[in-house]
Parts: sequence; C-alpha cells; structure tokens
Amino acid sequence: MKDTKYIFVTGGVTSSLGKGIIAASLGKLLQARGFKVTNQKLDPYINIDPGTLNPYEHGECYVTVDGHESDLDLGHYERFLNVETHKANNVTTGRIYQNVINKERRGDYLGKTVQIIPHITDEIKRNIKQLGSQSDFDFVITEIGGTVGDIESLPYIESVRQLRWELGRNCLIVHLTYVPYLAAAKELKTKPTQHSVKALQEQGVQADILVLRTEHNISQEMRKKVALFCNVEPSAVMQSIDVPTIYRVPLNMQQEKLDEVVLTKMGFDLDKTQPAKMDKWIEFVEKLENAKEEVRIGLVGKYVQLPDAYKSIIESLIHASAYNNKKLKLELILSDKLTDENIQKKLSGLQGIIVAPGFGQRGMDGKLATLKYARENDIPCLGICLGMQAMTIEFARNVLGYKDANSTEIDTTTPHNVVDIMDEQKDILNLGGSMRLGAFKCKLKKGSKAYDIYKKENISERHRHRFEFNNKYKEEFETNNMICSGLNEESNLVEVIEYTPNKWYIGVQFHPEYSSTVVNPHPLFISFIKAAIEG
Ligand code: GLN
Repeated sequence: MKDTKYIFVTGGVTSSLGKGIIAASLGKLLQARGFKVTNQKLDPYINIDPGTLNPYEHGECYVTVDGHESDLDLGHYERFLNVETHKANNVTTGRIYQNVINKERRGDYLGKTVQIIPHITDEIKRNIKQLGSQSDFDFVITEIGGTVGDIESLPYIESVRQLRWELGRNCLIVHLTYVPYLAAAKELKTKPTQHSVKALQEQGVQADILVLRTEHNISQEMRKKVALFCNVEPSAVMQSIDVPTIYRVPLNMQQEKLDEVVLTKMGFDLDKTQPAKMDKWIEFVEKLENAKEEVRIGLVGKYVQLPDAYKSIIESLIHASAYNNKKLKLELILSDKLTDENIQKKLSGLQGIIVAPGFGQRGMDGKLATLKYARENDIPCLGICLGMQAMTIEFARNVLGYKDANSTEIDTTTPHNVVDIMDEQKDILNLGGSMRLGAFKCKLKKGSKAYDIYKKENISERHRHRFEFNNKYKEEFETNNMICSGLNEESNLVEVIEYTPNKWYIGVQFHPEYSSTVVNPHPLFISFIKAAIEG
C-alpha cells in the first residue's frame, strides 16, 4: 500500500473563484511530474447527486463512465488530467447523511447517539480515504465546495481538521481567496483574505498555501504582508491572475511554483523529483492563443442563458477548434424563439450547428426548424442526445412524410413515435431511475462517416437519457439515406445516425462531450469543426 497524500482545496471571500480550476491545475502539475493523481469534489448540498438539479442553478450535469451524475467540476478534472473519474470522485452532503442514516437503521452504531461529530465526519473521512486507497494514488486532491464560513461546509472543514492530525505531513491545505482591486484608491486589498484565513483558523485549520485570485499582479511586498498576517511562509503565498483561458492556469501556477511548494511541504526532496513535463499542454495552449481565423459555430439549446449548462460541449468545441488552428466564435442560440420563418435570419453565417441535449418539450419546435434548415442547406450539423432524437423526428416528418412523427417524451398520443422506450433497453436502465447512464459499447458500421472519424469499429461512449430511436423505423430510414451507423449490439439500440447525401450530418445518442480532453480532443468534434471550416 502506498503512502497516499491528501491535499484539500478550500475557498474563501466569495464563490466562483475557480477552486475547481486551481485543484485541477495542481493535479495536472503533479501528474506531469510522474505522480498518480486523482481529484475529488465534496459538495455541501443535500441533494444525493446533482442529477436532478436544474442546469440553470448548477450548470451542466456531468456523467462519469460508471454512470454517476456528477458536479461539472469533474469535467474539469477529466479535461485537465486526461484520466477518468468515477462515482467516488464526487460526494454530496446528501449522500454522506444517507449513508449514515442507512447505517443507523441497520443498527451499525449499536445504540449510540448518532452525531455530526464523529459519525458524519467519520463518513466524510471514509469517503476521502477510500478514494486514495482504491487505486493506489500518490495524491488525492479534494476540493471542498462552498466558501469557508458557510454553515453547510462546517462538517467538511472539521473533517479536514481531524485528518490533519491523523495524517500529519501527508495532509496539506491550499486556501484560495480573492484580492479585490479598488479602482478609486488604485489599490489591491488583502483584508478579505486575512479574514477568510482567520475564519478557517477559528475552525481549527491553518492553511499551508494561499492562492490569491487577482486582476493585477501582487507584489513581493504584499505577499510578505499576507504571509505575516496569515501565518504562512512568504513562498507559500502565490497569485492566480486573471487569464483569457482557463487552460493557462496550470502554466501560471507552475511559474508560481505551486507544485514545488506542495512537494517540499509534503516532505519530498525536490532534487529527486522530475520537473513537470508540460510540452503537450503548452503546444495546445499556444495553438489556442495563436489562432486568428474564426470558425463560427451555433449551439442551439434551451439553457443558453447560462453557458455553464453546456460546459463540456463548449470546452470540446474549444479543444477541437484549437486542434484545427481556428479560434472558436460560438453563438448560443435559444431554441424557443426559432421558427421555419425566422430560421434563415437567425442562423445566417454559421459554419456549423450543434443541436444540444435536453429534456422535455420546451424548445423542441425550434430544434426541428434548425435541423430542417441545416439538413436542407447542407450545413455541418451535430445532434447530441435529444439533438439526435430531434434529427430523427425532423427526418420522419419532412422526408418520410409522417407529419405527426414525434418522441414519446413529448407526445404519447401520436401513432408515429420515432423516439420511444424500447423493450430492448429494459435490462440496461439504471436501478431506481429509468435512465441509461454511463458508458456503453457501440459498434460502428465500416464505410460510414462515423467509422471514418473514429478510425475503429468498437467504441464506448457515455449516455444519459431515457428514450431511444424506435427500431421499427430503421429500415425505412436507411432506405431513405439516413443510415444507422452505430449500434449497441448487446441491446440492439441505435447509437449513431448519419444522413449520407450531406457533407456532415451526424446524430449521436451518447454524449461525446464528456470525454474530450486537452491532450485528447474528441474525434467527432475535431471532424465536425474541420467540416465547418471546409464549408
Ligand atoms: N430527453 C431525452 C431522453 O431522455 C434526451 C436526454 C438528453 O438529451 N440527455 O431520451
């Protein structure tokens, strides 16, 4: 068994400082030094998992290969580290309490009064340490959601306090705070940072490293002052300055020596470790920053007011555009407002269109109008999950002539449901809920565009949906050039469709966006952007 090291990332002053990005950046730097690293997120809300949260409130629901509906920060971790995360990488307060209550009902506590300390904190610690021992990690980096001082995060901070005693040098705390700039006084202010470090101290936790989010460079002098007031070494006070792309952050943190300070504090001899090898990462960031020519892509969906709702799709498009040496110009288009009459005007100038995933009826007509326009005008188009389902409805209505074609999710009365619940899928729906979640195999048809893109026959992609293409219509679709080029053979379900007369018109029942990473952009997105550029 390895001597796993545990690093905690807490946040102070305000939310939205980018704890997830700092945690992922530290993970990246340690990984690039040859260590085996995983990132974990502890979420302080009562929901058992983020699956039922409205995307408007919490952003996208990310899905792991093992079918866990998780916080979107796990997406950052995967995109940065290029390794898969699992259910154990995301724990909510709801799940902690549920586990403790289940144990209480089973009688595991032998009649003891069940309390926050030690029972809830023990359960939190168990979830943290279990992740470390599960796969023999060198480092587990655990991000504590929320802001220090919140009632919700108290049991987590208390668990960190205890772990510090239990683990000694194998435990370290990175605290991320904010240093505001007062324009009128032309000054950066460290007082909020001092207060948030104090709030942490009041809970018995001393930060080892402070990362200060700032819009302006923080002088050495100011760093020394922060160190003095906050009880940390001056070399352990570092800045994270605003950058145009989050992918710069690991490189900036390397410059600030975040990885070196972490390793030194955890007892490593720096001379015996190798520096972080970031060549591939730098190559990507340079491509991203140097791209001048734009590629104009439209993302049509119903949660466009909050771009975080489509986080993974947007990041996948950024990866693929940089890969193709283009600068992404993304337009988020609300599907609710689109009609056959205004579509040309609203989508004019787009080089490629993505029709987004989603649930329910709202915005469906606009998606159908979009797809008709893209298909008839041969504009490169990718339909993801509900987007693919909409492709089948549009095709059935406008090409096959089934005017009432629909999905059972939207209309249960129509005789032509091209999207339905299939008998074949019953065995693979997750327990309790009724969704197909996580990674499933898919076999691509040789000679198809999908096969050409992936360059292999057998792939595996992540799912999050209830409805499927109705196999009853397969033959008729294929005779009319909408081929089913990807199948899940085990359950006989259609995974990929493509309209062969067009240059690039592909629908996927799965979510390729969950597995696009910086060093491994997803082939579907790369090919889609390439088609958009080529026009
Ligand atoms: N609402 C659709 C279904 O459940 C698609 C879900 C999605 O796009 N994630 O099948």
